Amino acid sequence: MYSITILDTLGIPRSTWVSELDAARQAWNGHSRFTLYEAASNPHTVYAGIPPSRTALAVTTTVCLPGYLQDADTVFNNTVAWATDGRTWPDFRRVAVHEFGHWVRLKDTSTLSGNNYCYQYTVMYDCFPVVAGYRTLFEEDKQWLRSIYGR
Ligand SMILES: [Zn+2]
Repeated sequence: MYSITILDTLGIPRSTWVSELDAARQAWNGHSRFTLYEAASNPHTVYAGIPPSRTALAVTTTVCLPGYLQDADTVFNNTVAWATDGRTWPDFRRVAVHEFGHWVRLKDTSTLSGNNYCYQYTVMYDCFPVVAGYRTLFEEDKQWLRSIYGR
């Protein structure tokens, strides 16, 4: 479903961002009827640059038609000192898992109504402080995913 344009300016070795992005994609698979896969050619892209909101770690933009996701793109901020050890923030894979959540139509927890505790234990959590190392879906994320795509 996506193709990588280039992430070489993130300061992460290519072999690392390729595998980390793949792991982030696969975090979304196996929980519902939806599968996020990598395609050789596709209009959806993941790239490095300066997001529209310049201090954001990454920004995903989607174009939705009724019942259909027409386009999804993610830009990772290449002015950020990314980490990939799973303990240091900002953790590239952790952010990638979150951004792919937007590809599959999930929302930032800060935008959900009736949100008293900000769903800290979800990958769609977007408030601070962020806990590094949460790279797999939590039960709440899986439930949101299944509410859209079915089990
Ligand atoms: Zn978000």
